[in-house]
Amino acid sequence: MKIGILAIGDELISGMTQDTNSSFMARELSAEGWQISGILIVGDDGQLIEKGLAHLMGISDAIIVTGGLGPTSDDMTTESIAKAFGLTLYTDEAILSRMKEGFRAFGLPWADTNTKQARFPEGAVIIDNPVGTACGFSLERGGVIIAVIPGVPREVHRMLPEGVVPLLRKTFGETGETRRRRTIKSFGLTEAEVAKRLSDLDIGPGIEIGFYPRFPENHIVVTARGGSEKEVDERLGRIEEGIVERLGKYVFGYDDDTMEGIVASILTKRNMTLAVAESCTGGLITDRITNVPGSSAFLERGVVVYSNRAKTELLGVPPEVIETEGAVSETTALLMATGVRDLAKADVGLAVTGIAGPTGGTEGKPVGTVFIALANDTGSFCRELHFRWDRRRNKEMTAQIALELLRRSLVGIDIHG
Ligand code: ATP
Ligand code: MG
Repeated sequence: MKIGILAIGDELISGMTQDTNSSFMARELSAEGWQISGILIVGDDGQLIEKGLAHLMGISDAIIVTGGLGPTSDDMTTESIAKAFGLTLYTDEAILSRMKEGFRAFGLPWADTNTKQARFPEGAVIIDNPVGTACGFSLERGGVIIAVIPGVPREVHRMLPEGVVPLLRKTFGETGETRRRRTIKSFGLTEAEVAKRLSDLDIGPGIEIGFYPRFPENHIVVTARGGSEKEVDERLGRIEEGIVERLGKYVFGYDDDTMEGIVASILTKRNMTLAVAESCTGGLITDRITNVPGSSAFLERGVVVYSNRAKTELLGVPPEVIETEGAVSETTALLMATGVRDLAKADVGLAVTGIAGPTGGTEGKPVGTVFIALANDTGSFCRELHFRWDRRRNKEMTAQIALELLRRSLVGIDIHG
């Protein structure tokens, strides 16, 4: 089965917003065993929407349209699709009253322009939106299924698997092939090193391996297909084992795992607390940690100590140390880690100080010099690093390595290596 994707929105063709919906949908649909016939992006323009649709109709068994279901006049997806197929629009009273109720419940003023989102082409089947106001819909024309959903990525992430995929499965049948996908997430090796370590892996038939660098991580996606569920699971398990064996301590998680999520779950399980002191990362480490639900169970505090005075006042780093050794130095980093740990009475103190660039470097300490320190009940430890990226990437890499050092210290991997 071939599926065409039509992404609609002026912001997509002007480059203001990146079309992430199409790549997400293509990945999900490919994982179902379906082929993508094409991905087309057009602006909020009735004629171009119709032309795009006509093009995809010729090469697809199903088309998924995303975007332009909003209440304003520049959102014209529904009208254009109705026009393309010569259908009239009707107002779905049940959906209209549900929308009005929703607005009332959230204390939002009702505007009559919203009525537009309760209008659908005749014969359309509604696709429920569990996380937003605009429902989607599907139609069948000349044997082609057209499914239309909003453009908000969060809504697409729910409506594609919950509304669209089941519909396509029902119409076109299951692919009949068992597939399993596993993502193995590694950090600390370059893509080339990963590939080299895996070069002697005996892959065998029905297995595909893809390498996906996701700065600063490297992900390895294994797909196994064909045969019974048991066979596919066994083959996937065997390959996964082989990969993990070869990448060793560089593997930190699987599938939806994140570095911060892994660290969070270990700290929570062990009833341990963490305190963070950040200079060059400006709060990035604490931001990542607090993205994990339930982080209040272990995060005692995160302080941004950007100036020398803040390092002294908030963490007790002596001014003499900063003067003689520098704010970016091993001694300062260690004192930051032990300082924040002591003040917070936490089990672990984590601290970073560095020069993110592009300015501020000196001959002895060039841009990209970073010190990451960790203090726990066994003592303290510091690592000096030198990066060569732009400011943002230097910050991201610093945060990532800080979290990785914390992970390694928690799971008992030697952090001195
Ligand atoms: P709504 O009912 O919320 O208005 P909509 O279907 O009209 O939904 P749009 O107005 O087109 O959606 O877009 C809503 C948001 O989603 C915007 O912030 C837009 O930039 C973003 N968005 C739209 N299409 C895409 C896409 N293909 N990829 C990523 N983001 C998108
Ligand atoms: Mg739009």
